[in-house]
Amino acid sequence: MTLLGDAARLRPPPGEGANLSMWDGAVLGRAIATHPGDAEAALAAHEQAIFARAAAVEAEDDDFYTIMIDDRAPHRLLALMTGVEHDA
Ligand SMILES: Cc1cc2nc3c(=O)[nH]c(=O)nc-3n(C[C@H](O)[C@H](O)[C@H](O)COP(=O)(O)OP(=O)(O)OC[C@H]3O[C@@H](n4cnc5c(N)ncnc54)[C@H](O)[C@@H]3O)c2cc1C
Repeated sequence: MTLLGDAARLRPPPGEGANLSMWDGAVLGRAIATHPGDAEAALAAHEQAIFARAAAVEAEDDDFYTIMIDDRAPHRLLALMTGVEHDA
């Protein structure tokens, strides 16, 4: 068993979640193809690759997590999505 996409590491809305999920699928397919008959080796190669890639993207998402939970939430999130300030 393995995980990929948001099940492996949830991404915030403006991040790269959809792209990472598709990339995960491609990595998993390649790992299975390059380790025929050895599912454990294939899954280990897949997991090593996707978590290293996700760690780099997660570092860029810290600011967004702050926007979602800070004292001005959800107004800063709405402004980010719409380009219009919605302060109450
Ligand atoms: C508002 C918003 C905006 C976003 N904008 C972007 C963006 O601009 N760019 C970007 O790259 N990412 C964006 N994302 C993130 C992106 O949508 C996710 O990271 C991505 O969809 C994750 O893909 P996934 O296939 O892993 O999971 P999901 O897309 O969540 O797919 C999981 C699927 O599994 C199904 N499912 C769940 N449980 C079961 C079950 N028990 N049996 C069968 N099926 C089941 C669900 O119905 C769903 O169809 C955004 C997210 C949000 C919420």
